[in-house]
This record gives sequence, structure tokens and C-alpha cells, in this order.
Amino acid sequence: MSGTPEQEEQDLWETLERDHILSIDLQEEILRIYGERGRKAILAVDKCRVKKYLDFLVVVGTSDEYVVEDVFCTCRAQVFHGGSCWHVLAARIALATGRFEEVDEWYIESLK
Ligand SMILES: [Zn+2]
Repeated sequence: MSGTPEQEEQDLWETLERDHILSIDLQEEILRIYGERGRKAILAVDKCRVKKYLDFLVVVGTSDEYVVEDVFCTCRAQVFHGGSCWHVLAARIALATGRFEEVDEWYIESLK
């Protein structure tokens, strides 16, 4: 692999979103690029912790649930450090591979 980290990151997502399969190679690439965040994201997808409600995509963390929209997430890591937290990575992997649980409910309703 050559190129800048940005290019490698872009290549990774292009491959995943084209093939829809999280191969061992891609998993290693995610771990290499994202480290601990990548590991948590892959684990969350493995454990089916990404849930697609009618209105929002929700990632279930160890102590709380987070709403992910595109590159935005409701967790504090996102607010303080910027960039993609592991919830955003997990949501993106889940969407690309179809490995999410579809919930036929409005998430907004469960918050009331
Ligand atoms: Zn987050």
C-alpha cells in the first residue's frame, strides 16, 4: 500500500462500499488506520450493535446508545476530539455490509 493516509482511508471505504464484504484484509486495514476505534467498530458490527430505526441509526455502546447521522454522533468523544468516533465507523461498516439490525420503530419515540 502506498499513498497518503487520506488516500488509504478513502480506498478502504471505496472497497468496502463496492464489495459489501468485510474481508480479513479490510479488517486489518481498518485496524491499521483507526487502531482502537477500528477494533471497537468491528466488534460492534460483529455483535449486531448497530440498529437501524425508521428515523435514526443507533449504535449501542457499553454504557449508552448513540445516534449516528452521516459523520455526526451524539457521543462526547465526537464533541471534544472531532473526527470519526468508533460509533461513526461502526455505522459506516454496518451500512456498507448490510450488517445491521432493522428496527421497525421510531427511535424518537423510545426517547419519550
Ligand atoms: Zn460516537
